[in-house]
Amino acid sequence: MPVTAQIAFDVEKVRKEFPLLQTSMNGKPIAFLDSAASSQKPHQVIDAITTYYREKNANVHRGVYQLSQEATTAFENARERARSFINAPASKEVIFVRGCTEGINLVASTFGKRFLKEGNEVLVSGMEHHSNIVPWQMACEDRGARLRVIPVNDRGELIMEEFERLLTDKVKIVAVTHVSNTLGTINPVAEIIAKAHEKGIPVLVDGAQAIPHMKVDVQELDADFYTFSGHKMFGPTGIGVLYGKEKWLNEMPPYQGGGEMIETVTFEKTTYNELPHKFEAGTPDIAGAVGLEAAIEYIQSIGYEAIHRHEAELLAYGAHQLQQIEGIRFIGTAREKASVISFLVEGIHPYDLGTILDKLGIAVRTGHHCTQPLMERFCIPGTVRASLAFYNNKNDIDRLVEGVRRAVAMLK
Ligand code: PLP
Repeated sequence: MPVTAQIAFDVEKVRKEFPLLQTSMNGKPIAFLDSAASSQKPHQVIDAITTYYREKNANVHRGVYQLSQEATTAFENARERARSFINAPASKEVIFVRGCTEGINLVASTFGKRFLKEGNEVLVSGMEHHSNIVPWQMACEDRGARLRVIPVNDRGELIMEEFERLLTDKVKIVAVTHVSNTLGTINPVAEIIAKAHEKGIPVLVDGAQAIPHMKVDVQELDADFYTFSGHKMFGPTGIGVLYGKEKWLNEMPPYQGGGEMIETVTFEKTTYNELPHKFEAGTPDIAGAVGLEAAIEYIQSIGYEAIHRHEAELLAYGAHQLQQIEGIRFIGTAREKASVISFLVEGIHPYDLGTILDKLGIAVRTGHHCTQPLMERFCIPGTVRASLAFYNNKNDIDRLVEGVRRAVAMLK
């Protein structure tokens, strides 16, 4: 093995950079295992936001004065950093949105208006978050189109033969998640995109759960749209990115009207600003963009290779330790999996288990995880979900396992 192959990753050093991981919950040091819902933030991100408000705060794109120009530079630098992070060809293809949900709504609404007609179909998958179902349902209802669903097998993987069967000429867009928030499944999005493109069909990828764990290159994937949220990748809430290929964004009408997105306004007619501003009505979340840039820098300083190695090790360890518990059933055993462990214990409601874990200082998510159709597919009311980030350690896993054992002893 080359000497340089392994970059040192010191989880205990990394943990010290996250103030919230030093706190306690219900009198116990917190074991935070809910990063798929929202990740914790390193002080670098918190400091970047504070510094922005202390030293640079002004509105962007409009002021002739120095402070406003500095704020504009900070905001546009963040866009450029986001562009290079996902290797988008141009920064005008990087639109700042509130998060992944808004990114999908933007595309469903405006692509829908421009391209969906009666009798058309939109293809999603059976493991989508509600954010990648409901906006399409709304667009379909509006346009007289139909929502079709790629089914999921018992391991929690997409059935690709079914995908190919459903990919008919009626389909105008495919919208799939890169990584499932409930199952951890990593979907073969490059293959999905290639197959869709053979038929000239564009693909939107919901990257909310991929971006915290893996390098995303939108050109390599050839994604038409790719969207993600800052708060799931160690950045602030209220900011996210929608990448879209220029050729589509130019054809799509604006999403919202207001300041910033216009070129000229008269009472008779408005002409729209160029990309990306056409899709950014109103004052954007400038501090959020600055915080997102700090989060990108932070991820890059650790490196996805180190992140992957550490998380894969924890995932394998966690699955093995939990497996020893009698009556445990894992939901989501895909061959390609990110660091999410969803499970049930026979005879125990996930909510009861989660409540006991909370008392022990262990933060997990319980319920349907905004994937009700997927719960229906597995005929379950919900799961207990432990979702890991690079700042988790074996002690977090040991506490989870011990906590589940104690809960089982109490509830059975
Ligand atoms: N897509 C997936 C796969 C998610 O897990 C989530 C959030 O959990 C979303 C979309 C929505 O993200 P947000 O609430 O940040 O807009």
